[in-house]
Amino acid sequence: MIKVEHLSKKFGNLVVLENVNLEVREGEVISIIGPSGTGKSTLLRCINLLDRPSGGSISIDGVDILDPRTDVPKIRQKMNMVFQSFNLFAHLSVIDNLTLSPIKLLGRSKVEAEKRAMTILTLVGLAEKAGSFPDELSGGQKQRVAIARCLAMDPKIILFDEPTSSLDPTMVSEVLSVIRRLAKEGLTMLIVTHEMDFARDVSNRVMYMDEGIIYEEGTPEQLFDNPQKEKTRAFINRIRSIHYHINSTRYDLFTMNAEIDVFCEKQLIPLKTRQNLPLLVEELLGIYTPLLASTPLDIKLSWSEKKESVELLLESGGAAFNPFESTLLQDGEGLCNIRSMTGSIEFERAGERNCLTLVLN
Ligand code: ADP
Ligand code: MG
Repeated sequence: MIKVEHLSKKFGNLVVLENVNLEVREGEVISIIGPSGTGKSTLLRCINLLDRPSGGSISIDGVDILDPRTDVPKIRQKMNMVFQSFNLFAHLSVIDNLTLSPIKLLGRSKVEAEKRAMTILTLVGLAEKAGSFPDELSGGQKQRVAIARCLAMDPKIILFDEPTSSLDPTMVSEVLSVIRRLAKEGLTMLIVTHEMDFARDVSNRVMYMDEGIIYEEGTPEQLFDNPQKEKTRAFINRIRSIHYHINSTRYDLFTMNAEIDVFCEKQLIPLKTRQNLPLLVEELLGIYTPLLASTPLDIKLSWSEKKESVELLLESGGAAFNPFESTLLQDGEGLCNIRSMTGSIEFERAGERNCLTLVLN
């Protein structure tokens, strides 16, 4: 669907893209990650013809889009872009935002365009807001309208440029859920994002950009769990989570604690949290250890820069089990200790899994 070869882009003397090569096949979801200023937006803007490349070639669905004879509006219809800053038409209602281009560019009748718009608004959960104006919506809703407006053109490809970066943290997940859904439906998507967990589970491939090139690429597992190059590793490790899969009672608590301490140091986690974390993990393991005979335990520890707090997620299988509501547990003191070290504790039964999320004070 997208083929980029030897793409370069300069702004004056500033070389932003050096030699970018990438190929996206139909139905693939590709995430692009990397430090700011490495040309990720510029790459998307070149692919969408918002910036003119300095060299190289780009073809979309077999059509060379840099050829002056190419029908640019037709390409734009096939491939649409969602921006960080929504870019909605403020003077138009939600539904008019969605129908404007299909009426103007695809020659649809108003009735037809509105019918399709309502279907799409329902898909993104905003049918109720059809008559509202952008100003009346939250950031998360605006971005979902922007995605809906994109879909109204029936594109085959959607480019996302950090679709959640300008959102309040509480609104990130509603937008990511919509994108996940589109991925399931087989849309071809290229997504620049800083949401690593999202990139990991939504993508077929992940590309790490640095130094004006696709510096390293691979499956999410390859790139996140086993990056080959030094810079990729540094970038990935800067990110904020460690995982443990514990399937026997003979886990090595000392190694875990040492690793947790290194993690805290790297993330510059406040001292009090850093001291509490091993205690908390130990208390929790005490509770879960009797269950290890029947179900392994997955622990994920992550640092959220936005919330400035450490989050601890424990996942296990088996029968529903929430330690904070269980009558099986004798050790009231352990639970009390855990409560005193955490700001919030949430339990969720997701499918066959028990998910306990604790946020540290
Ligand atoms: P990223 O999206 O990875 O953060 P960008 O593609 O936005 O990076 O920018 C890459 C570099 O190109 C930055 O140094 C930025 O300042 C520069 N740049 C981007 N757009 C322009 C422009 N229109 N004119 C001059 N410099 C630009
Ligand atoms: Mg950018």
